Amino acid sequence: MATSTNDKPKTSPMMERYDNTKKLYPDVILFYQVGDFYEMFREDAIIASRVLDLTLTSKSGGAEGKIPMCGIPIHAVDNYIPKLVQAGYKAAICDQMGVVQKNTIMEREITKVVTAGTQTDALDNNKNNYIASVAKHNEQYGIVYADITTGEMNLVTADNTRNLEDILLRIKPAEIIVNADAKKSESFISSIRLGSLPAFYEYSSITFQYARAERTAKKHFEVNSLQVFDITEAHKVGVMALGGLLEYLEETQKRNLININKVKVEKANDFMYLDSSTRRNLEITESMSTKTKHGSILGIFDHTKTNMGARLLRKFLNEPVVVDSVINDRLDGVQELTQNSILASDMAENMKSIFDIERMSGRIAYGSITPKECLRLASSLQSANEFKINVEGKFCSKILKNAVDEIYDFSKIVEIITSAIDKDASNNYKDGGFIKNGYNAELDSYRMVGTLGANWLSDLENRLKEETGIKNLKVGYNRVFGYYIEVSKGQVPLVPENWDRRQTTTGGERYISNELKEIEDKILNSERNAIELETKLYNEIKDYLKKYIREFQRTANAIATIDVLLTFAETAVTNNYTRPEIDETINTIEIIGGRHPVVESLLNGVSFVPNDTLLDQDENRTMLITGPNMAGKSTYMRQVAVITLLAHIGSFVPAKKARISLTDRIFTRIGASDDLAFGQSTFMVEMTEVATILNNATNKSLLVLDEIGRGTSTYDGLSIAWSVLEYLSSHLNAKTLFATHYHELTDLEGKVSGVKNYRVLVHESAGSITFMHKIARGGASKSFGIEVADLAGLPKSVIERAKEILKYQESANSTATKFSFGDEVNVNSNTKENVNVAEVLSVLSDIDMDTVSPLVAFATLQNLVDKVKKQ
Ligand code: ATP
Repeated sequence: MATSTNDKPKTSPMMERYDNTKKLYPDVILFYQVGDFYEMFREDAIIASRVLDLTLTSKSGGAEGKIPMCGIPIHAVDNYIPKLVQAGYKAAICDQMGVVQKNTIMEREITKVVTAGTQTDALDNNKNNYIASVAKHNEQYGIVYADITTGEMNLVTADNTRNLEDILLRIKPAEIIVNADAKKSESFISSIRLGSLPAFYEYSSITFQYARAERTAKKHFEVNSLQVFDITEAHKVGVMALGGLLEYLEETQKRNLININKVKVEKANDFMYLDSSTRRNLEITESMSTKTKHGSILGIFDHTKTNMGARLLRKFLNEPVVVDSVINDRLDGVQELTQNSILASDMAENMKSIFDIERMSGRIAYGSITPKECLRLASSLQSANEFKINVEGKFCSKILKNAVDEIYDFSKIVEIITSAIDKDASNNYKDGGFIKNGYNAELDSYRMVGTLGANWLSDLENRLKEETGIKNLKVGYNRVFGYYIEVSKGQVPLVPENWDRRQTTTGGERYISNELKEIEDKILNSERNAIELETKLYNEIKDYLKKYIREFQRTANAIATIDVLLTFAETAVTNNYTRPEIDETINTIEIIGGRHPVVESLLNGVSFVPNDTLLDQDENRTMLITGPNMAGKSTYMRQVAVITLLAHIGSFVPAKKARISLTDRIFTRIGASDDLAFGQSTFMVEMTEVATILNNATNKSLLVLDEIGRGTSTYDGLSIAWSVLEYLSSHLNAKTLFATHYHELTDLEGKVSGVKNYRVLVHESAGSITFMHKIARGGASKSFGIEVADLAGLPKSVIERAKEILKYQESANSTATKFSFGDEVNVNSNTKENVNVAEVLSVLSDIDMDTVSPLVAFATLQNLVDKVKKQ
């Protein structure tokens, strides 16, 4: 017999409510409180059981049959949600509201939505966890990013998708929300497809509308105008992103985000512009091979003592500054610390006892700080106070003096916390017991009842044994039935008539008497009252702490700054770095005895060979570097870029001496890999990078071009490299390091202004070569590619055959007329007249006879003689 839909038993009222809530959060895993558990149902249960490794069960769903279900105990939720979020899901907590009453359905409310960018638990404390909001309007992008655990919020704008992608790669947000227009740009951001950035999540577009966004922001920050944050008409699209983000945070966090109390506008020109490939190539925060900080610049400096310092160090490295006063303030601080090494090492030691005040202030703002964390906070504040007392008045540099001044005197807060909270307080504080005896008289009186109650119960037990003659009678307690008098089976006939039976157990019966009931009421009431009062007292402490969020943040920032400067100083002393000279009057990059900090640290006992550099805006704009494979060209060029970068961060640098011009951008084009996911070949990627450099570099930029034009035919590649060099010289005036295996290019010295030839020296004897890693003036005449292939272990027969072919090729070429380019640079190196006299003269005139080492002098002379004889 067919049953009509109406005959089917209906879904239970609880599931109906569940479904209604779920409809509001369709793309979120809903944790639905049912008593002491959070349950998940239907599709959510299937996903959660798989991701969280939970047993998938089912419940009867009336008409639907069985509904998939799984659950976790409420107290374990903080362990499970981060796992779900890391797996790319969002989670919403739906809590029961009010007191459980029989035969009524509990009211429930979503109390929090946790997403990758808004999670506050199980985070790496040495990294910020950013959420970014992107709004697009009139081809401009506004980007606002925040770390809700620290309260940091910044606003920046971008003019095109490439710029947007570079900014997002600098920030590396865990989550990106966008308006509808920005969503359309997602397909142009290759890093999303490659997995280095999360996908764009389109959030309600009305929240991004300018007028509404401005209102949201003013209301959140409680200001009449956003100009207090230097937000002007030019930042309209930024305000749109800001409004969207604030509404999203409010919707997910369901509370006032009081630790986000300001927004900082980033001025594009205050920071050095580094595109994503340059960040990758210079291995700033992660090495290309391991994808971790080991083998990166961060790895060299990674000795901060606090989480706050570790986060700031990353930020400093990611945001080199182009304002010389800011840089020199930092350098002054580092210098002062290097000169006071005993004080500095004391400071570093003392810092270790300062925990993460910044993230704890976030938990204060959200009301989630536990009593145990309050104790950690108090001990950190105490250590910060002592730290301040130890160093106060000992520094002259502005940055250190200011930072020490910013450390707030928290004695009163320390006193309040330590007088209120028991030193054994645990993180699980729902059952009370964490407020110290003596802190509150009323609480003490409730607790007294608890202590007395224990006596009353044992007195009662003894008296009842006497009165009834039941010698093994016991007074006990269980959570479900409360207090009881337990009597074994054989003794039941002796039980007085006025006792009521509460429970039957396998061995006997449990009863309650009027007298025990009275004691029970007193004890339970006092316990309930005590918990309520403890909660109230604790809330008062939390509210008090909330008033000091700004002071916590400022102190945290001061500690972080000192921590990073100490790390810079410690690294400088240990690794023998020097203070760079850097200011806007300097136009050169002049390095004496420069080293690559990472390669140097990985050489395992072998000494790193230091090298000099001279780049200016005149005769020495381009260093054209030739030399064998494996000689050290890439290392050298990167080292110049890294030293320049470190100087802009405010760190000492690995060199004997360094004068560094303020550099607006560093561009690198080093190696290339196929960007297959984006449909580009190796050569295309290389050319795209070169195009970006030529279109965006300025005369204040530093360019590192390691091999241009290698992924195509020799003549195509050589022609491109040649013409790029000419363009750089005639149009850009940027300081350039240009490495090549096209030795023909060395003919450009003396013909293209600003180009100077350099080569990496090797020692050749009996057909084998030794790398000397020394840079000297003059162009190389050989690549030694076959010798390096031999060292790499290619079969001997292949090597011998390659040598024969090379000989043949060289003799064939020497009889043919070589190509020439354009009228301006007409080079035919095949005839005696065309020996590059300009280069020879220039190399000789650059030699400083007072300082040149015998090795370099000999190698230079030999190079010139070889060149002349070859013609
Ligand atoms: P190729 O042309 O094949 O790309 P290259 O000339 O760019 O080679 P690098 O990759 O810079 O050579 O250097 C090769 C190795 O030589 C480095 O990994 C490093 O171990 C060592 N090296 C480079 N420079 C120095 C130096 N100044 N002192 C000591 N060792 C060095």
